[in-house]
This record gives sequence, C-alpha cells and structure tokens, in this order.
Amino acid sequence: MKIKNVRTRVFEWKGKIVPPARNFCTNAADLLFERGDNMGSFRFHGWLVCEIETEDGTVGIGNAALAPRVTKSAIDEYYAALVIGEDPFDTEYIWQKMYRRTHAWGRKGIGMTAMSAIDIAIWDLMGKEVGKPVFKLLGGRTKDKIRCYASKLYGQPLDALAREAQSYVDQGFQSVKMRFGWGPQDGPEGMKKNLELVRTVRDVIGPDRDLMCECYMGWTFEYAKRMLRLLEPFNIRWLEEPVIADDIEGYKELRKLGVLPISGGEHEFTLAGFQQLVDQRAVDVIQYDTNRVGGLTAARKINALAEAYSIPIIPHAGQMHNYHLTMSTLASPMAEFFPVHDVEVGNELFYYIFKGDPQPENGFLQLDDDLPGLGIELSDEYLKDFNIIE
Ligand SMILES: [Mg+2]
Repeated sequence: MKIKNVRTRVFEWKGKIVPPARNFCTNAADLLFERGDNMGSFRFHGWLVCEIETEDGTVGIGNAALAPRVTKSAIDEYYAALVIGEDPFDTEYIWQKMYRRTHAWGRKGIGMTAMSAIDIAIWDLMGKEVGKPVFKLLGGRTKDKIRCYASKLYGQPLDALAREAQSYVDQGFQSVKMRFGWGPQDGPEGMKKNLELVRTVRDVIGPDRDLMCECYMGWTFEYAKRMLRLLEPFNIRWLEEPVIADDIEGYKELRKLGVLPISGGEHEFTLAGFQQLVDQRAVDVIQYDTNRVGGLTAARKINALAEAYSIPIIPHAGQMHNYHLTMSTLASPMAEFFPVHDVEVGNELFYYIFKGDPQPENGFLQLDDDLPGLGIELSDEYLKDFNIIE
C-alpha cells in the first residue's frame, strides 16, 4: 500500500468576525513601538488542510494553522514528493526522510509545520486502513474520559469577563484559562488592570477550581518577575508562556523563583527542542502543539520524554489530534478545550472547517473506541464563508 497523492488547500475565512478589541491578549509584538492593530500577528484566519491518499483510495486528513499559504507551498514544492510512493505505515522513516532532506531549512518553523500537517494526515490514514482510532495505535485508552479546561476569557470589561467565567462554571468545567491584557509598556497601571482581570475570574470560579493564566509571550523576564509576586495570592495552576519561546533562560529563572508553576512549549519544535526545555528544567508543564512540533510521530516521543521526567503534558489547543495523544498517555492529565464561538482569533475556524470534534460534558471529553482514524471529516456547512486556495 503506497501513498499516491498529497493534496493541500488553504481555507481562508471571509465570513463574519468579532472585531478586534484593545487589551484583548498580550503577545510577542507588544514590545514594538508600532501601535495600530497590535493583535495583527496574533490572529490567523486561514487554515491549511492536507489530504493524503493511498492507492486504494483511502484519504487521511491533516492540518496546520501557522502561515498556511507558505506552509502549503512548502508541502507542494518539497515535502509531497518525499512522501509519494512511500508506505504510510513506515511513519518513522517518512518522518526522518522529511526531516533530514530539508534539515538545512525545515527543522523549525514553517518546514516543521508542513511536516506536522503531513504526519497528522498519515496517522489518520493508518487508523482508517486498520479500522482503529489513532489513540489505539498510540498506546490506547489510559483514561475513562479526558478532563478538559475551558480556554478563552480574553481581556474585556470586567462584568462581561465575570459572565463568561460563570458560563464555564455552569457548564461544569473544573478548570479555566484566562488571558492578560497588559504588559511591560503599560506600567504599574497595567499591572493593576491585569490583577483586576484575575481577581474577577477567581471570585467567580471560587477557590476550588483551577485557574490558569496566559501571557502569550507578551511579557519580559523583569516584568514577569514582578507580576509573579503579585499573582501569588490567586493560587494560579500555571503561568503560560510569560516570555518569548527563545528565552529558555528566562523560563528557567522564573521557575526557580518557586512562586508559580511556569508552562510553555507551544512555540517549540521537535523532540530536540523539548529536550532542551526539559534538560534545563525550564517548565512545569509541557504544552507542545501537534500542528507544529512534528505531528504525532514527534509528539509521542515528547510524551515519553515527559513521562521519564514526571512533567505533565497538556498539549496546546483543543483539536482531535491532541485528544488522541492525551488519551494515549498517563503523562497527559488534561486537554485544552476552545469553546465553540464566532470567529475571533482564528482557533475557532477548526469547528467551521471540520466536523467530528467531541464537545465536553461536565468538563470531560470522550473519544469513540471504534471510530477509525482521528474521527474528523471536512464539513461542507460553512463552505460559502471560505475562500479556498487549491
Ligand atoms: Mg498558550
């Protein structure tokens, strides 16, 4: 059984969007002096879909969200030819072939994102060929159901924030994640506003639910150090990506302070990248993104690494490939869940392009033991709202 065809398409959203708001979420571009739309680098309203077909007509579906037009070119121009003619069950060899043949430029960033999309499609394909869900190929069921946390609560007026937090309590979530709106450029007043956001959510969810806080790389080491002390009374389960992904030393030093657990890895690539994070004891929680890290083939190796070091894995983003990984390892105690919502930052597009993602009940997700592959399909419900680039 050989791979016969690789098809890529970019789905660009042209439907209704929620207009961008100020102080919605800190991000790595906040330190630049340009003002204007400071959320520009954070939003992504396009998604790459990669379909891989074997000689018998079985199609596996992969995807990637990072710079989809460029990622599409990388697959079309380079990676597709490396994959066509291979047996999809030789996943390790295919991965190494893609990795080594493009090593000069592909080992991080766009190249690894393209590889991730292909790898996800290959795992879906393998599941469909043998009639098993992907998690059964990765190690099988390790939990009765998957605990998940509601991940949204962007910066907004405090009354609206409180209402949103209450809605997650009402839906039965035991854990929620919120975003900060202010960073180093905003001085002590911004710090106060950040604390008001946290206080508002903590007051609504009470002391017995987990609260996680996301900086999305929008802070500096010095700012984060000051904020950590101020956040200590709120019993934060983890502070996420306080500094940019390359500042591993910053993660390590913040963690050493022992004030709050520090999480990261959403913008790191491959087993090699996570080996550095783990070796340096830089994070308390590993949050790889399967869409970037090198697909499921790389992610399962990072699961093994994390297990060896007793570091929990909680992958970035809700989405089927992450749920299958979470289900298949004890090293992963929980999944991120993005509530279904009008199109805003772009995470939501997944629900408009695909169908089949499970919805939580009382804060837990379930995977079907008998549904082959990843269990998602392309949806045609919203096709009119997309510009599709072949
Ligand atoms: Mg994050």
